[in-house]
Formats: sequence, C-alpha cells, structure tokens
Amino acid sequence: MAILLIDGNPLIWRAYHTVGLDNEGVLRGIVSTVFKLIEQFGNSPALVFWDSGRCRWRSAVYPEYKGARSKRREDQDEEELEEVFRQTDVAKKFIGDLGVRQIQVRGVEADDLIGWFSSYLSESFQYHTIICTTDKDLWQLVSGRQVSVYDVIKKEQVDGDSAGASFGVAPHLIPAFKSLVGDSSDSIQGVKGIGPKTARTLLGEYGDLSGILDNQSELMKSKRTAAIFDNLEQLNLAWRLVTLSSHREMRWCLNDRESAEFVQVLNKEVKREPLGAQVAAERLGFMPPEQPGASVLSSEVMSGMSSFVQKESEEGLGTLPSLDVLIGECNQCALRGCCSTYGPTLPQGYDDVEIMIIGRNPGYDELLEGRPFVGRAGERLDRFLDDVGLTRREVWVTNTCKCYSEGNRPPSYGEIMACSRYLRAEISIIKPKFIMTFGNEAMSMVTPHGSNVTGHCGTIFDNPHGLLLDMDIQAKVAVCVHPSAALRSAKSETEMNYCAEKVRELLESVK
Ligand code: URA
Repeated sequence: MAILLIDGNPLIWRAYHTVGLDNEGVLRGIVSTVFKLIEQFGNSPALVFWDSGRCRWRSAVYPEYKGARSKRREDQDEEELEEVFRQTDVAKKFIGDLGVRQIQVRGVEADDLIGWFSSYLSESFQYHTIICTTDKDLWQLVSGRQVSVYDVIKKEQVDGDSAGASFGVAPHLIPAFKSLVGDSSDSIQGVKGIGPKTARTLLGEYGDLSGILDNQSELMKSKRTAAIFDNLEQLNLAWRLVTLSSHREMRWCLNDRESAEFVQVLNKEVKREPLGAQVAAERLGFMPPEQPGASVLSSEVMSGMSSFVQKESEEGLGTLPSLDVLIGECNQCALRGCCSTYGPTLPQGYDDVEIMIIGRNPGYDELLEGRPFVGRAGERLDRFLDDVGLTRREVWVTNTCKCYSEGNRPPSYGEIMACSRYLRAEISIIKPKFIMTFGNEAMSMVTPHGSNVTGHCGTIFDNPHGLLLDMDIQAKVAVCVHPSAALRSAKSETEMNYCAEKVRELLESVK
C-alpha cells in the first residue's frame, strides 16, 4: 500500500508566489494541491506535515540556519504575511475536516517529521511512502521501492535514478554532496573551492564522506581537495544540519516538550467533519476527494510511532561502573554498527577529579584500544595538559559520542543526542568544577554555542547551558579547538596554544 507524506509548507509559498492572496489564492492553492495529490494516487492514505517555527536544534547549533529565508520574510509586508497565515489556517481546517491527519510540532521541521515517518512506515509495515514535495532536501530519503518522492512542481516521480541524474550522486549521498558544496537557500556554507563537479568526482571515487575523510593523506596532495581538511569544522556542521535521521533516532532529536506534543499529535483522534468540509467546499467551489483515506493509518500505527519517542529508563545512570555497562551495551544509534566487536570507547579517569575533558568521538586508535584520546590527537591533548600544568591523573577524559564513526565522519545530531544521556550522567556523578571542551560538538553540549568553535576558543564560561538543556552545569567551561584541528593547521595550533594560556591563568588563579 502507498502512503502519501505531503510536505505542506512549500505549498503555501508556491501558491503565494504563483497565485497570490486575492480570491483566497493561498487557501485555494494549498487545498487544491492536497486534494489533487490524494486523487491522483488513488485515494491513498495521506499525512500532511507542517513546519512550526524554526527548527529548535538546528538554530541552536547554527543561528544563521535558514537566516536568508527569515530575512526575506521580515522584509515582507506584515499585513500580507498575516493574510498568508490566515488562509493557511483555513486550509488546514478544511483538510482536517476531511479526515486527513496533519502533523505539526512546535520547533520541529516538517523535513525531520517526514524522515521519521517514511522510515517508520516503510521499515515497520513495508508501506511504500511517496513524499510529495518541492524540496530537494527530501530527496536523500529516496530508497529502492520503499520510499520515493513526487515532485509537486514538475509533476513527476523521483526515484533513485532521477535523483541521481539531477544531483549526479545517489540519493543517500545527497547529504555528503551538500556538505561539500553548501546550500545557499539554507545559508549553509560548503567547502571553498569544491563545486558540484569536484564533489561528484570525489564521491564517485571514494564512495561516501567517510571514504573521503579516510583518504586525507592522498587528498592533501592537491590544493583544492586539501581545502576539505582545512574546512572540516564547516563540513562537519553542514553534515549535521543537512542529514535527516530515521525514526530510530527520533527520541534523541526531541526535547521533553516536543516529545510530549508529538505524542499528543499522534494520539489525537482524526475525525471527519463532513458539515464543516461541505461548507468550505461550497464557499470555495471545490469538489474535495470522496474518501481521503487517512483513517486507514490506524491508531495502532500511530501509537506504534509513539513508542519511538519514549526515552530510555534512567536506571543504571547513577554510578560509574553501571554507566560503563550501559555504554558498553548501548545500541541506540547507527554509530554502534561502526564499532564492530570493539564496542564503544569508555570514558577514562578517577572519580575524585575536579576537571573534565570532552572530545568529539573516538578515532580508530581509540577504537582499537578502548580508551579515549590515545592516538595522535591524544598526544596533542597531553601536550596541552602539560602546558596548563595538569596530568591525565587529574582529569576525567570522555567524548560527546562514545562510538567510533567510519572514516571519522561527523556524528549526526541524533547520534550526538543519543549519547548525551551518558555525558549528562558523567557530569552528574563527577561534578566537575571545570570542564574543557574540544571541538564544536563538545562545545555545543555545555555552552550556548553550537558552531564556530574557532571564534570562541579560549573563552571561559561560568555555569553555562548547552544542548544538555535540563542540566544546571555548576562549573566553569573553557572552549578549545579540537586537537586534531591543531595537528592539521597552524592557525588552529595557535588557537589551541592561546586557549592553553587562558586555562593556565585560570588554574593558577584558583590554586
Ligand atoms: N578525537 C576525539 O574527539 N576523541 C578521542 O577520543 C580521540 C580523538
């Protein structure tokens, strides 16, 4: 059975730009497209997804995210915008009165909701999901016969071949392609000097982003591809922003309020209101489809989705030995698959220390040894510790993600958040007075800054808040670039030394 996942927001702006507001143009544009799609696909069950505000976590890690779009909206006439939203609200009511389920959660992007639903419906029920959108960001979800995209503007179905023909890479490589090339419509920068052609060639040659990152020494030989390694911070951030996660990581992408709202939306009974629909249809002169089949998606299917929102129990997070066991057994995200039989890399240190070091995730050396920061990055970290007058005995060493990632590819947001419960527990148990973060990912967990670690390197925060939102971090936090960055570039090396100076001053002042 096919299920339509309709991306609502592009329909608003498409109607606004093509038809305008007169004669309820936006309202008519939205409902006529939704109805046509449902009819065209033989009254298949449909779900309509709406954005609601800016994506909370993307804006938190990168305040500029979609900044250009918001700016355009700000420049628009306020009354016109109000009218757009009024007509949209009437359209939503009309669609709802026909019994079509609509999904909207404040602070969550429709793209993410669609990603979670498409993987859930195809994996758990073998439904064929057809994503109806004008947005190429969603093409990354196209997968075999299970998930396809219908391009609402071109009126054609997008499969793996056509997505490949348009981007020049297979759908699953679109996030890697966009991370390299950037995406100006979402204000995401790519790697300077890497255009679509080079990105395609590299992905063709090395398979995926991990393959590219794995071949640093070869790629450093050319100035153009060496730029990838000079811009890793940017590349990692772009990857985090553009990658859509599956329903398995969904619970980690939502905070408590969003989870509660999502569960409420999933459990809400969808009732047809034939009278309301008839009044709207007559007023607008529309013939809505006779049986938009949303009800086929039973409450069982919906409540099944709710189970992926529930957080794991907190049991075992209270002591260091039980935490080690939990981390060792963890299977909450895709990174576990990269660790083969070695498993996650456990944090290291004594529980009497007052200082915590947080990195990104283990590299290959750490994977093999099972201890954090033992490879080249670890050697650079040791020099840093020496510079500030500390030894490993005095620090707790841990990572934002405890698992190795193939080719050291950056962890996604879902992967980072899946591991965040362990970091939260470590901070609760150790109660460090001073935390040092290395790299963007660690910085984003405990400070309000999710990107541009270079710009914050050497800054010391007092009791800040980060992605571990519910956590009152009673500690000073120093931000530093990642030791691997310092090994790669002279600029980052200088920044790391600057941070060491600041930390040494601080430690001397409290001696
Ligand atoms: N890089 C990290 O962020 N952590 C490690 O443990 C090793 C390298």
